Amino acid sequence: MDNDVLKLIKPEVLELEGYSVATPPHTIKLNQNESPYELPVAIKEAFVDRLRSCPWSRYPNQAPTELHAELRKALKLPSGIDVLIGNGSNELIQTLLMATIERGAGAIIPVPTFALYALVARVLEATLIEVPLNEDLTFDTDRILGAATQSRAKVIILCRPNNPTGTVIPIDGVKRLASEANALVVVDEAYHDFAEGNLLPLLLDHENLVILRTFSKAMRAAGLRIGYLLGRAALVQQLAKVMLPFNVSLMAKEAALAILRNRELLGEGIRTIIKERDALFDQLQMVKGITPVPSQANFICFRTQVPAKGLYDALLEKGILIRDVSGYSMLADCLRVSVGTPEENRAFITALEAIMEET
Ligand code: PMP
Repeated sequence: MDNDVLKLIKPEVLELEGYSVATPPHTIKLNQNESPYELPVAIKEAFVDRLRSCPWSRYPNQAPTELHAELRKALKLPSGIDVLIGNGSNELIQTLLMATIERGAGAIIPVPTFALYALVARVLEATLIEVPLNEDLTFDTDRILGAATQSRAKVIILCRPNNPTGTVIPIDGVKRLASEANALVVVDEAYHDFAEGNLLPLLLDHENLVILRTFSKAMRAAGLRIGYLLGRAALVQQLAKVMLPFNVSLMAKEAALAILRNRELLGEGIRTIIKERDALFDQLQMVKGITPVPSQANFICFRTQVPAKGLYDALLEKGILIRDVSGYSMLADCLRVSVGTPEENRAFITALEAIMEET
């Protein structure tokens, strides 16, 4: 059997590893930065009630205008700023790059960061310019700006807070890049609910700034696939042309509406996760051979003095699934743990302490 058909695939695709998340058997799941809390029953019921009375046999509206209006209200969006809804924010990353990157166009990606940016950029034959974070995993705005200017990149993708490090580029850094770089500055705020600072006011001052958000983390709806993009109306109009029609299913739209209309039910969970994250950081600092990285997200990246893969396996043997990020640049001695419920976090720390004591 030959592989002639594979000659039809772009070399850029053949070279890719692809995005995959291993989910081996476990009892506690702390590997994907999801919310450890299910959506409240009241929200699920409001969602299901609406679904029952919607026509399932018809296409949804091409632009989910009701959801746009609800989001505008929730975020107090000024006129001139528009919303684009995606099938998860992953789809919006793809949309943004499809609309901007032609073969060879420069894409600046500070690394280590969320792997999907480089994956999509590679498929689109971008010239990928990966700018390393500082040794302590903070952002070097000067270096990012220098690389953008020198390469005349079209897009800069910033993850704030950054996955998988949990570190944040200061708001002034974003402002500077948006003012001085001749590029589209995309800020992926998947984890912004757990962080300080608000970038929305910057949108009005910078026509080249775009913000991505998701319902998958603090909004507890990773299974429903809802993300959104905020940017200048003229830009959003162009991006909308690249989206596949009817990308937002009836389910996603109704779920997002039910969540937004009852969002006061989610605040306490977010506050608990932030408190737990800070407590978990303090506890990790006390564990022999472990050095956590300060985080503003719902996860913590930590360095380990024992081989990272071995520690990951030892935790998994005790039923605790976290994320092995040791394959990322600069993170060869690192693992990442999502913040779970207080009980899950305690079980994680107890298991980690026991393993590190034995080594
Ligand atoms: N951006 C970042 C930084 C992420 O970590 C993730 C999820 N791992 C996503 C986007 C994808 O979010 P969604 O579920 O909205 O596609």
